[in-house]
Amino acid sequence: MSRYYNKDALKEQLEIEQIYDLIELWGGEPEYSEKGLVSQTICHNLPGEGSRKLYYYENTKLFRCYTGCLEPSFDIFELCIKVMKNQKSLQWELYDAMDYIASYFGFNGEEADNDKTNELEDWEIFKRHDYQLPQILQIPILKEYNPVILTRFAYPRIASWEQEGITTEVCHQNFIGYYPGGEQIVIPHFDINNRLVGIRGRYLADDLAERYGKYRPLMVNQQLYNHPLSMNLYNLNHSKDNISKYHTAIVFEGEKSCLQY
Ligand SMILES: [Zn+2]
Repeated sequence: MSRYYNKDALKEQLEIEQIYDLIELWGGEPEYSEKGLVSQTICHNLPGEGSRKLYYYENTKLFRCYTGCLEPSFDIFELCIKVMKNQKSLQWELYDAMDYIASYFGFNGEEADNDKTNELEDWEIFKRHDYQLPQILQIPILKEYNPVILTRFAYPRIASWEQEGITTEVCHQNFIGYYPGGEQIVIPHFDINNRLVGIRGRYLADDLAERYGKYRPLMVNQQLYNHPLSMNLYNLNHSKDNISKYHTAIVFEGEKSCLQY
């Protein structure tokens, strides 16, 4: 089925971790920097052949190539088109790039033909037939991190979270800890089978939160504990039994809402 994407909305939806994932996927070896990301110039070089002069700025959501590109400023879709050309000799257009990126992260576009009449006819069809949800062909298995890292954090009471209704008991059940090296609250993410797939850090100090963003993947001893957020539902390991019992799932945007609930 062909889908319609709104370029700006899709770009807005992409978090910096997802930009990071894409650059990593394309061989650019990204690193977080103060204003965004720094990576190899995969815009005009093959992986391993360029310098680290490609910057991504989180505030503008634009890349800037400081060496070879004639048009030095471009967005993630244009980078995708360049990468496909350099690495796979493909001539992609904007739509291909949007479809690739949206599909990679499981974002749904809108169905291409959705004028009012057709929509109503569609609903009639749903009434006559048992409507089947689209089948998920493959559930992605995310990379697992060694959970021994969780023994290296401190697990104090977090007063500000307690005031928001997240009890110490809930914090302990979910291994909510504190990493003094980063002055961050530690939020481990597990998959449905309790595998540790990522760790998020929440800065406590306002100036650090302002500079780096409140939430970001935790970095300990040069190891970044990142994962594609859209590929894993936080707390599903604890909620799966109740979801199947009640046939109902309540989905929140943030981890803290899950913990509060
Ligand atoms: Zn370039």
